[in-house]
Amino acid sequence: MTPTNFHTHTFRCNHATGDVIDYAKCAFEQGSLALGISDHVALPDNRWPEVRMPFDQLDDYEQAIESARNMMPQMKIYKGMECEYDAAYHSYFQDELLGERAYDYLIGAAHYAPLKGKWLFAFDKLGTAEALLAYGKYLTLMMETGLFAFIAHPDVFGCSNETWNSDLTACSRDILGAAEATNTPLEINGNGFRKTMKQTKEGLRHPYPWTPFWALAADYKIKVICTSDAHRPEDVLANIDDGLAFAKKLNLETIENPLF
Ligand SMILES: [Zn+2]
Ligand SMILES: [Zn+2]
Repeated sequence: MTPTNFHTHTFRCNHATGDVIDYAKCAFEQGSLALGISDHVALPDNRWPEVRMPFDQLDDYEQAIESARNMMPQMKIYKGMECEYDAAYHSYFQDELLGERAYDYLIGAAHYAPLKGKWLFAFDKLGTAEALLAYGKYLTLMMETGLFAFIAHPDVFGCSNETWNSDLTACSRDILGAAEATNTPLEINGNGFRKTMKQTKEGLRHPYPWTPFWALAADYKIKVICTSDAHRPEDVLANIDDGLAFAKKLNLETIENPLF
């Protein structure tokens, strides 16, 4: 059966190519009948502008989804965004995006993690006990808001750490416990399979998904969603099969659609 992808970007984020219709066509050609669009969220104060559309492109993004829906009525296209959380954006996410603007879902993602009044870059600054503790707390807070349909790449700390240690176990247990308590699915991110592999003392591995995190996940009653995290139309379903095989090997329960 052809999978559905719920993690899809567009050219607007400045590091992806293609628009909604290009991803929808690619997914449909491969047999998908649904697709979730989730570009990096536009923020009202244009914070972290390098990796997202400016706020004034939000209407254009929504129109691109609307026009793809009209052009491809045979396909269900979900309107979403991939969001960093900050309490300053809570009502924007809840009342404006999920409310007035009728978004179908939001993905929670920590590309940054708050520590002592600063934001750490999550792709290379999660290599200390203090940073990991902060990251675990941040994802927990994110899940407790109830705003997010799932959490993207919870194991992104695989980029900052070479080998597993007890701080990583503690951080992972914080995240996994919160996922279970809040019933929030966690994502096995297909883009991790496409990134340059990491040379470590223990050999070559993907930066994420990182196996020890998901091996611990098997101790918790949680659900897992496999996505492509596509940044090019041709990747719209890429590596979802790898994610599903990875989940199966570790006996994790997968879901295809986080919205019902
Ligand atoms: Zn991206
Ligand atoms: Zn993404």
